[in-house]
Formats: sequence, structure tokens, C-alpha cells
Amino acid sequence: MYTECSISNTVEKKCFFHFTYYAIFAVMLFIDTHTHLYVEEFCNDSYEVVNRAIEKGIHYMLFPNIDSTTVEDMMALHLEFPDNCLPMMGLHPTSVTENFEEELQKVANSLQMGYYCGVGEIGLDLYWDKQFKEQQKEAFGFQLRLAKKFKLPVSIHIRNAFDLALSIVKEELTDDLSGVFHCFTGDYHQAKQIMDVGFKIGIGGIITFKNSGLYDTVKKIPLNELVLETDAPYLTPVPFRGKRNESAYLTYVAEIIAKSKGLNIDEVARTTSRTASLMYNLKR
Ligand SMILES: [Zn+2]
Repeated sequence: MYTECSISNTVEKKCFFHFTYYAIFAVMLFIDTHTHLYVEEFCNDSYEVVNRAIEKGIHYMLFPNIDSTTVEDMMALHLEFPDNCLPMMGLHPTSVTENFEEELQKVANSLQMGYYCGVGEIGLDLYWDKQFKEQQKEAFGFQLRLAKKFKLPVSIHIRNAFDLALSIVKEELTDDLSGVFHCFTGDYHQAKQIMDVGFKIGIGGIITFKNSGLYDTVKKIPLNELVLETDAPYLTPVPFRGKRNESAYLTYVAEIIAKSKGLNIDEVARTTSRTASLMYNLKR
């Protein structure tokens, strides 16, 4: 588990253990809590992309699944980087169609194997298509119950359905349910509602978009309620907006959060990584 060292600088210099500790943590540790580096957009250079992120200090990249067609590629990249790239298991709301019950059964079976650090991504997306709204609600509730059963956190995707999604989370809320509202784009009132149910808020590249309003909202949200994400290959932060996103760009998100709060980037790295480590039960 990632813990902060409380030993002061003077004592630290005399203490070999703490010297080693500081040597290890001298490199900033970031966690990209939501990235899809296993999808087609990275089929030619996923190794380079992961290595670039590691060089930038992004030690963990958490992979939310999409549906049964993406599991093989996701697991293959995880096996190449077993200490850095950690998979989740879930059915994405935009993949909820006629065969959703069969898909959910596969999710449930896969979770039995114990390879996964979370259930995701799950949720409601009423932006692209409302045709399967009822099925999306059912799939969301079902997967929240799976998360509780396996004591795993959830990564929640919401588009045009905040109130409905929050009401489903509240119906299922117990001490065993935790997670992240990923790619948060809402206002402070919505952020407050997320914090009130004990969930964390995932901030990605949208905070760097001038017209998003997210910069001013994030200013008001306590740092320990936030986790960082890229959602690569989508939602690329400025200065690469419009190009393919990748986990190495997480530092641009951290930088702007630091700026909004008048902190340095180390503080943002330390606090958000601790929150994500605790949430996803990572080694440090
Ligand atoms: Zn995603």
C-alpha cells in the first residue's frame, strides 16, 4: 500500500531505510485510473505507449473493459506489463444490446477468476442511444451487485444520465460499494452528491478545455476526493487536443489541477495516487 513517510528530512538522512524509501519515491508516482491502451488505436505501438507512460512516472495504468470482444487484447497487454497495467472486468453501457444477459454472465464468470482490480466500465449512456435504456439500468444494477459480491470498486461511465445513475448507486449503496465516477464533467452540486455517497471523482483531459467550466469546479473539490485519468485514446488534453490520447499525457491533467489549487504537481501526484491505491487495493 502507498503510504506517506512522516519522518522529517533531518532524521531521514540518518536513516538508511528512509533514505531508500525516499530514493524510490523520488520519482513521482501517478496512477492513470482509466485508460484503454488495448484498443485498436494502439495496435501498432501499445508497448511504446505503455513504456512512455512508465518513463513519465505513471506507474499504474488501470484498464476498464468494454465488452467480451475486448477482453483478449486487454489481457494480452496486461500480461506484457503485469506490474503496471491492471485490468478491470465489466460491460460498458454502450455495449448493452439484445445479448446483454449473455454478456453479463461472461462478466460474472470472469470475475470468479480473481484477476481484476475493479468492475468497469459500467453505467448509463443515454447520449448515443436510448433504445436499450431499461437494459442499461438492469446491467448497471447487476454489475454494482457483482462489485459488492467480489468486494471490488467500480468505474462508472455516465452520459446524459447523472440523476438516474446516482439513484441506482444509492439503491445499491452498502459499505462494500465504492468506486469512481469517471470522466467527471458536472458542476459542484453534482460533485457534492458523488462525495456524499463516498465515491471519488475521476478527472481527465476535459479540465484543460477552456469552455468546460471544469477548472473552476475542481478548484472547489478537495484534492483527496479526486483521482486522475486519461480515458485514452479519447479526450486528449491541451496541448495535444484533437490527437490520439495516451497515458503519458496524464501529467498535463495533474499540472492543471495543481495550478487550479495553487499546489505543486508532487502534491497532486501523491494525494491522488494514495486515493487510487486505497480504492483499487494496489501495492503502494
Ligand atoms: Zn472508458
